[in-house]
Amino acid sequence: MEGPMGQKLKQQEFALVSVSELSPSSSTSPSKPVVARFCADSGISELRFHKEPESIATRNVDLRTARLFKLGPVQSVCISEGSEASKETSYSRGITVQFRNEEESRTFHSAFEQWKKEVSQGKQLSNGTILDTRSKFDDKIEPSSAKMYFHYYGQLLHQQNMLQDYVRTGTYYAAVVENRTDFIGRVVVDVGAGSGILSLFAAQAGAKHVYAVEASEMAEYAQKLIAGNPSLGQRITVVKGKVEEVELPEKADILISEPMGTLLVNERMLESYVIARDRFLVPNGKMFPTVGRIHMAPFSDEYLFIEIANKALFWQQQNYYGVDLTPLHGSAFQGYFSQPVVDAFDPRLLVAPPIFHGIDFMKIKEEELYEIDIPLRFTSSVGARVHGLACWFDVLFNGSTVQRWLSTAPGAPTTHWYQLRCVLSQPIYVMAGQEITGRLHMIAHNAQSYTIYLTLSAKMWGPGAEQGGILQTSSCKLDLKEPYYRMSQPQAYPIVQDQQSHQLISTQDIPIQSHDLEEPELMQQPSPNSGTHLNIMENV
Ligand code: SAH
Repeated sequence: MEGPMGQKLKQQEFALVSVSELSPSSSTSPSKPVVARFCADSGISELRFHKEPESIATRNVDLRTARLFKLGPVQSVCISEGSEASKETSYSRGITVQFRNEEESRTFHSAFEQWKKEVSQGKQLSNGTILDTRSKFDDKIEPSSAKMYFHYYGQLLHQQNMLQDYVRTGTYYAAVVENRTDFIGRVVVDVGAGSGILSLFAAQAGAKHVYAVEASEMAEYAQKLIAGNPSLGQRITVVKGKVEEVELPEKADILISEPMGTLLVNERMLESYVIARDRFLVPNGKMFPTVGRIHMAPFSDEYLFIEIANKALFWQQQNYYGVDLTPLHGSAFQGYFSQPVVDAFDPRLLVAPPIFHGIDFMKIKEEELYEIDIPLRFTSSVGARVHGLACWFDVLFNGSTVQRWLSTAPGAPTTHWYQLRCVLSQPIYVMAGQEITGRLHMIAHNAQSYTIYLTLSAKMWGPGAEQGGILQTSSCKLDLKEPYYRMSQPQAYPIVQDQQSHQLISTQDIPIQSHDLEEPELMQQPSPNSGTHLNIMENV
């Protein structure tokens, strides 16, 4: 936010020969010499024309709508719109301005442009404060990315897709209604309300008032849905705009949001959730969800590896209609391995117990999400060719009554997030009991996603290993924005009847020490049958 505009451009005055009003009824008649003054002392940037020596302005022009045209070397016309309040009935106004000389005309025009620029960069509030309309969101995110993003969420079909993820929506519903005490009589802000579903849940749980903030055109539909549920809707206000930019009349006791993308952080909406916390939440207020965890484990999947490598085979043709395609094989191969794979995989593909990186939404600083650096250390349970790193996430609703997890783990009921795998173009070989180390380094980019740098290493085994610590290391760079949705593959995997005959690694995992959350008791993952998900909820 920037200070009042007056701090930048204070006031500027120009002596003029004459000023006359253009109007359909009166012809222009030169009047006494006047002074033109640019100022913002009323909170609105204006161009005022004063008759000298009187100091009362005879004509005021609102610079938000004004445009200036040159009629000649020393004559210009300033056209402005009628007042905003009565737009339909008011007409444009033209004022001709006569300058003393060409030089003064030029200076006036450049001053006009400068004041216009200031006005277009600033947003004037009724109290006269001028907010910089370039919010934190605009500073980080490329406009074309934001446009596509909000266009996507503005469509009902995509909201429906999320609503039909019954694991997701059912867990939110349960987390809210089972924790009524956190909502009854409370002010709630729904951060990125979409269709408004979470606002309606909060109202069902007895919220005093819910502000449903939504930046996309979906705000209109949310308004319609909420109006159609009047017993709840009378306690909900839809606010169209970005949480980084809107102003709310009161602080929230609790925030509710569904800001999770693939790998938790994709879409960079967690940052908006954190900004909303800093802008709207009362001290010691609650956040639903409260914490999130990114889980990771190395996997072995020969089929997936071959499938990806084979995609680039097309570029190995030496005679494609008489053209040698091989010069592009390397780039195509690299391109396919830079796409994270999104699908639901069999947890038996994991070769080591997972670890996790925790993010406390109540405490994390927004900037800490710009770069996420996770050290990796696993102990392989089997001898295998490791093809990469499998990742998923869960979030906790730390309610006063019930703590509920929403999990996207492999083997748990599938959600629309599925799981994500980063595949190495060079697999590494490990033996049972061997240590796998590495690093998952994610750097946010301005297209609302992350560049992922993955490195996995393991000591060589077999001949030469005794000679001392030769490392096999494999790295890859991926763009989280460009996933490969691998949904055409059959996703179901057989229920393991005889668990002894299979390597089944539990997806309950180990916290990474350096990123461990402060409240370990919150981190107890419920056992698969302890009601993490509603039993009646089946993903479709
Ligand atoms: N809460 C809804 C929708 C979740 S999808 C539900 O659970 O079904 C996330 C929504 O947040 C989208 O509709 C998107 O347009 C909105 N959104 C994302 N970033 C936002 C921001 N910075 N300000 C306001 N809305 C945002």
